[in-house]
Amino acid sequence: MDATLQEVNTALHEAQVAFLSYKNLSGKKKAEFLNAIADEIETLGQELVSTAMRETNLPEARIIGERGRTTGHCRMFAKLVEEGSWVDARVDTAQPDRQPLPKVDIRKMSVPVGPVVVFGAANFPLAYSTAGGDTASALAAGCPVIVKAHPAHSDTSDLVAKAIQKAMKKTGMPNNVFQHLHGKGFEVGQALVKHPHTKAVGFTGSLVGGKALFDLANQRPEPIPVFAEMSSINPVILLPESLAKDCDKTATLLASSITQGVGQFCTNPGLIIAVEGEGLKNLIAKLTEEIKKALPGTMLHQGIADNYHKRIAQTLTQQGIKIEGEASEKGDTSQGQPLVASVPAPEFLKNHLLAEEVFGPFSLIVKCKDLAELHSVINNGKGQLTSSVIGRDEEVTKHKNLLNILIEKAGRLIINGVPTGVEVCPSMNHGGPYPATTDSRFTAVGTDAIKRFVRPVTFQNFPDSLLPDELKESNPLKIWRYRDGEWLKG
Ligand code: NAP
Repeated sequence: MDATLQEVNTALHEAQVAFLSYKNLSGKKKAEFLNAIADEIETLGQELVSTAMRETNLPEARIIGERGRTTGHCRMFAKLVEEGSWVDARVDTAQPDRQPLPKVDIRKMSVPVGPVVVFGAANFPLAYSTAGGDTASALAAGCPVIVKAHPAHSDTSDLVAKAIQKAMKKTGMPNNVFQHLHGKGFEVGQALVKHPHTKAVGFTGSLVGGKALFDLANQRPEPIPVFAEMSSINPVILLPESLAKDCDKTATLLASSITQGVGQFCTNPGLIIAVEGEGLKNLIAKLTEEIKKALPGTMLHQGIADNYHKRIAQTLTQQGIKIEGEASEKGDTSQGQPLVASVPAPEFLKNHLLAEEVFGPFSLIVKCKDLAELHSVINNGKGQLTSSVIGRDEEVTKHKNLLNILIEKAGRLIINGVPTGVEVCPSMNHGGPYPATTDSRFTAVGTDAIKRFVRPVTFQNFPDSLLPDELKESNPLKIWRYRDGEWLKG
């Protein structure tokens, strides 16, 4: 049932009360909680898989994979906070004899920001929803979480929320450290973002939605950060020599990435950029063959399907657009029809609409007359989650300057690979300059996702007994600390 505004208010007050005790729990206790969440999600067994399949039209293997990713990141954050060095402790000891002025003892570490609101994502019912990366990283940081369930998979969300609440009880967490609200329409989400106790927001979805919530958060008397992952078309640049030699292999790789999960990934390769010639012709021929064989798939919800059809229709009527290949089997209105089109670079450069995300199994090939034109297309590009370059080793080295431009544009650079498939690991960056996200300094995937929900605090001239354990002189937690200019453990 949809929450009332009164319930939103109560939830935030309860989250604030929970914060006052949760923030002081040890890493070990928070780790027990996160591990228990993973265990309880697994205990849901087939019921969770069937419910998620029914609500999202995603196949069983994908849901099972996503469940593994969800329990995996809960356990990853558990390990991180149990070990403890993530707080980035700095210790600068006093120098009472320093001339001309003495230096006092100064120590710094990260502390949780307070209650966090998380919007469940339509395209990841488990890994980016109720116990998704935003929730797990915020809980790991020491922040209570209120999830606004995505209405397209509310039963799945309820099941996962119950699992988290069981884990809370089993591990003796403060009441209401995790809460779960429903709300169709924007009222509940907006009230959550506006509430004075909310200190940060995690969001995955449309550019319109993410930007609206970001603006709302900035208009508050006390502005707060909104970490929104929104829109990316993940350009794939095909270098000429490789295109001439490996076009079949590249076309097959691209076709599977474009159609994977009915294209409903933020890392879908929506833009392919290459120089015209025999190589590109052959690649398009093979890609067309693969796309024709691909099957239309039922999309996550009718709104996403409607949006896909609307955006395809809009794109195909733009100047210079040519359909290169479309799935031979016709889908119904709930399905996404795989499609690849092309456009000459000058038309692409004139038309900003062509550089906007079409969420689904679609990719646009930009045909450039030479490398200079290819550079203009890249230089004019907006912020992205990823950029890929496909080329032979020596060729990529020759195009180092291209990589230099791409660093300005994307949060992850890929050589000889496609953007789909985001590994969850400490070195992953899943973020990028606007409009890919609202804050390119942070990642939504991997251990560094925790940094979104903390802030640094300096403790100056504190007696040892009043310092947090992470900063005490004896380093009782045996964490890595930057002490007087050196990294030390112990
Ligand atoms: P969405 O429309 O942005 O909605 C996501 C969540 O945010 C929902 O809970 C929605 O509430 C809420 N919301 C959106 N705008 C809001 C506003 N102005 N005020 C308060 N709450 C707001 O995304 P979606 O339903 O998941 O998918 C729609 C489109 O988003 C897709 O067709 C696709 O283009 C894009 N999308 C992109 C990605 C990506 O990773 N790049 C992922 C998913 C979707 P309600 O549901 O109550 O409306």
